Amino acid sequence: MAVHSKQEIFPALDEEVSGGSFLEHPLPKYRFPLEETEPAPAYQLVHDQLLLDGNSRQNLATFCQTWVEPEVRQLMDECLDKNLIDRDEYPQTTELESRCVYMLADLWHCPDAANTQGCSTTGSSEAAMLGGLAMKYRWKKRRQQEHRPTHRPNLICGPVHTCWPRFARYFDVELRQVPCVGNRLLMSPEEVLKRCDENTIGVVPTLGVTYTLQYEPVHAIALALDDFEEVHGIDIPIHIDAASGGFTAPFLHPAVSWDFRLPRVRSINVSGHKFGLSPLGCGWIVWRTKRDLPEDLVFDVKYLGGHMRSFALNFSRPGGQVVAQYYNFIRLGRKGYTRIAKSCQAVGSWFADELRKFEIFELIYDGRDGLPGCTWSIKPGEYPRFDLYDLADRLRGKGWQVPAYPMPPHRTDLVVQRMVSRLGVSRDLAGLLMDDLRQAVRFLSSSRARPSVGVEAASGYHHI
Ligand SMILES: *Cc1c(COP(=O)(O)O)cnc(C)c1O
Repeated sequence: MAVHSKQEIFPALDEEVSGGSFLEHPLPKYRFPLEETEPAPAYQLVHDQLLLDGNSRQNLATFCQTWVEPEVRQLMDECLDKNLIDRDEYPQTTELESRCVYMLADLWHCPDAANTQGCSTTGSSEAAMLGGLAMKYRWKKRRQQEHRPTHRPNLICGPVHTCWPRFARYFDVELRQVPCVGNRLLMSPEEVLKRCDENTIGVVPTLGVTYTLQYEPVHAIALALDDFEEVHGIDIPIHIDAASGGFTAPFLHPAVSWDFRLPRVRSINVSGHKFGLSPLGCGWIVWRTKRDLPEDLVFDVKYLGGHMRSFALNFSRPGGQVVAQYYNFIRLGRKGYTRIAKSCQAVGSWFADELRKFEIFELIYDGRDGLPGCTWSIKPGEYPRFDLYDLADRLRGKGWQVPAYPMPPHRTDLVVQRMVSRLGVSRDLAGLLMDDLRQAVRFLSSSRARPSVGVEAASGYHHI
């Protein structure tokens, strides 16, 4: 059974797949095939299997890029055979990677961008692991120098992406998560301070919380940690999880101070494959200065005739995503990224304004001060005949994927629904979704949908 499969169902190993007229013989479904199959029918078979996947352009759940320019496809094709780790063999790909790191440091106002350090990763999750490890090692080294114990590190965050609980579990760090309370669905400086002590390796605010799309108040948290240092003499660094926001805030909210403008911010991760507009498989982490990445973590490897310094979880990785990222940077520049981010933002805020016209919905986030998109829930005191899971389900019937899910503790009672407006989710496409949403609400509100739905009975299934 694959690790991702939820159900304890064992496959019928002897089942076969049949390709109809184009396949001469049926193929085993789960056994390793004995015979060869010609490329064309094999391709057709795989292609047909994939028809049942959702249509990625209608997937309003993902932050990831689902539309790229033809030139990106061409570069990806040209780089299909390039292994990023073979730095001696493909020095120019390495050069493009390092240019991207400097460009990101510049974009994020690194005061000494030439002295920065960073690398590409498979995504923000790998970048988060690297950022977390660097914080843990810096803390450990300092504690060792002070002859203090190093066995109980902790990390403070708000409603984070699952990569942070993973980091904490895999690398043995206590996660001190600020819970949501009432209408506060983000971390606050006060709540962060309550959890700080000498074993805190860092604080991780999220720029673009996945649950609501809002930015956490980085500046206020940094100021609070300045005060904390003044009183207690403990210097707690900040790592920003800017998976999505790293490519929206610089263009949509240039006045928001969240990046290396704040001295306490030591590292930032971003997903190149989200608002960075690269194809899937691209993330970045940038440290403020070389000193912020402990040398102990960097491996000096002799391989294929060269020396390389490497800090990564993977060894072999595809080079195309990095090349495509560089293409996007030179192709679009600040002006291009701003144009695209603004149009995404306009779609999200338009959608929010349309939702406001419904009696039954309450906006949690209106698409303006955070990531492009919007988040809503059923208005307290309104008891429609359906819940947001029903609505998500109904929209799924038209191919739209607009997820409904509960907020994290302590607001799991609050079920929200979210749409992310990315490049490729045009105003026109969002308009079609809104038409279908109106129709779905009308249908679900009518007695035709269901005889009657109790509020409790409607809690339904949860798809996150
Ligand atoms: C998407 C996301 C991640 C994980 O990033 P991947 O690139 O998918 O690995 C982490 N944190 C936040 C805030 C995200 O939105």
